Amino acid sequence: MTSIKRIGVLTSGGDAPGMNAAIRAAVRAGLAKDWEVFAIEGGFHGCINDRIRPMTARDVGGIIQHGGTILGSARCPEFKTEEGRIKAVRNFNKHGLDALVVIGGNGSQTGSNALREMGFKVVGVASTIDNDLYGSDITIGVDTALNVALNCIDMLKVTASSHERAFLVEVMGRDYGYLALMTAIAGGAEAVCIPEVDFTPEQLAEQISAAYKRGKNHALVVVAEGAKFNAMQLVNYFKEHEKRLGFELRATILGHLQRGGTPGAFDRTLATRLAAAAVEGLAKGEHGVLVGQIKSEIVKTPLEEVVSKKKELDLSLFELANIMAQ
Ligand code: ADP
Repeated sequence: MTSIKRIGVLTSGGDAPGMNAAIRAAVRAGLAKDWEVFAIEGGFHGCINDRIRPMTARDVGGIIQHGGTILGSARCPEFKTEEGRIKAVRNFNKHGLDALVVIGGNGSQTGSNALREMGFKVVGVASTIDNDLYGSDITIGVDTALNVALNCIDMLKVTASSHERAFLVEVMGRDYGYLALMTAIAGGAEAVCIPEVDFTPEQLAEQISAAYKRGKNHALVVVAEGAKFNAMQLVNYFKEHEKRLGFELRATILGHLQRGGTPGAFDRTLATRLAAAAVEGLAKGEHGVLVGQIKSEIVKTPLEEVVSKKKELDLSLFELANIMAQ
């Protein structure tokens, strides 16, 4: 049995569609256990600055369909210092919080682990559009971000074909190529550039002109923001070297558009299941873990392992993207 009576919930780091569904689930699952649930606004910043308030079931009504996070999210350098975290724990104690649910990605779960090391009970919920978090095959927000990127690509393809253009489409993902790779596969791209695979602009130019020679009336290249050359660098390179690609070249950077999508069914259900499982775990005395999904099962992985291991990208997907580009 557990001694938990009162928990805090926060969202941290880059926002992801589905975070609201996770907040809602954590609050309602906690209330269903007759616990008190407190929201912390502005991520770890709100922990340090005491932006902590009690929540009711009604406070999380009507939010499941909205992207972003009603609690706000922030990047908080002060939390990386022990001094900052001590201030946060003082505030947790002031409000009588027994444990914390942290909804966020890699950086946020590193923060969770730092709290765990200070002896505070914390459970992470895997949420980032980058999908770069060890301990979850897929994280909250990825599916919606992918669909947003696909909508943009489908539209770009229409104009690209009309004008026989090549489009470089830069997608997010930090230094992990998952989002770019899956966007390329689902979007039917002619080429994809990811951080995990070294390439030169010359090699990419060959791929693009080969597509032209094969009779394509457009070429779509998905470029991960963390790739060796980003979209603007590639455009500039081709301009300087007057590369003959066959196509006129344009670049589109999707950027934060990908974060703002309306969460789809997959992200809403994943968020609800993971956050409810985080509360269920706390009730059973499980903390210091990340709740994620592995092979369609809900799995809890020690935070220590999550922050010390790197999630590997399945590079057979890169091969698949290239075969399909023919
Ligand atoms: P994400 O969770 O989306 O990866 P960030 O990398 O920006 O986002 O991290 C979010 C926040 O997590 C940081 O602003 C900081 O407050 C906290 N954090 C990141 N790294 C650490 C660390 N090493 N120790 C403590 N807190 C950290």
